[in-house]
Amino acid sequence: MSIKIDRLNHIYSVGTPFEKKALNEVSLNIEKGEYVGLIGHTGSGKSTLIQHINGLLKPTAGRVEVNGVDISDRGVRIKEIRQKVGLVFQYPEHQLFEMTVFKDVAFGPVNMGLGEDEIRRRVEEALTIVDIDKTLYDASPFELSGGQKRRVAIAGVLAMQPDILILDEPTAGLDPRGRDEILNEVDKLHDQLDMTVVLVSHSMEDIANHVNRLIVMDKGEIRFDGVPKDVFKKHRELEEMGLAVPQVTYLAKALREKGIDAPEDMITIKEAVRFIAQYIDGKVKKHD
Ligand code: ADP
Repeated sequence: MSIKIDRLNHIYSVGTPFEKKALNEVSLNIEKGEYVGLIGHTGSGKSTLIQHINGLLKPTAGRVEVNGVDISDRGVRIKEIRQKVGLVFQYPEHQLFEMTVFKDVAFGPVNMGLGEDEIRRRVEEALTIVDIDKTLYDASPFELSGGQKRRVAIAGVLAMQPDILILDEPTAGLDPRGRDEILNEVDKLHDQLDMTVVLVSHSMEDIANHVNRLIVMDKGEIRFDGVPKDVFKKHRELEEMGLAVPQVTYLAKALREKGIDAPEDMITIKEAVRFIAQYIDGKVKKHD
């Protein structure tokens, strides 16, 4: 499933004193199997952009194509687009409402009009992907831990078998273990099922450790689009947009200022550990 966005503009509250241009001439292609990070300061337009990809918002101007079909065209069934493009909102667990975990995850497939066996198969598959044990199927979602609740909410989207999964801040408010669990599940979806993933995040560490491509938004426009290692070289520009680079990238910069040749494209803790070990072994020289 590919996404093609061509000169997309979105203006909220057109013709009122609250008129606000949230997207300005955004063009972007996402191919099947990509794992894309989307970052930008609050108000930069991330949420407006992702809501266009599954047809929740309509362009003021421009086009959004999903698999070659303009989703604003008459005759396009928006319900089908929403099944293909799964959108996991921020704090999705706030939308859990059924009596049991199983029923909550079944909600989408039931709405799709699927048969009972297919519903059961999809629910079990989705809950297995997010590592929720069978013993919890009849539990109330409200009895679960924060991380479990969120994984159940994500399973609810997965049960619709989307081709592309968009997650808006999926780790917000979770402890480090909950964060790792969620992102490891997302990695699995991408690596094993070849799912196209778009991850909106405030955490540069999450981005550095997981995605293959990074898009940076600022004031409704795309400012950078490339592999994370290259985008994170733009410290100064990112800071001007109110963003940062991973902590490890700052460490590498501080080392270089002390005459130690730490690479400019060091972005993960793993890379830092490897570099520091080489330095201690005398494989990297210090100079004045
Ligand atoms: P982000 O997700 O990056 O925080 P948003 O897409 O939510 O950014 O917002 C982009 C801009 O559009 C902001 O200036 C925001 O205030 C404005 N905006 C978002 N939603 C609405 C809305 N429903 N009505 C009016 N303005 C909005």
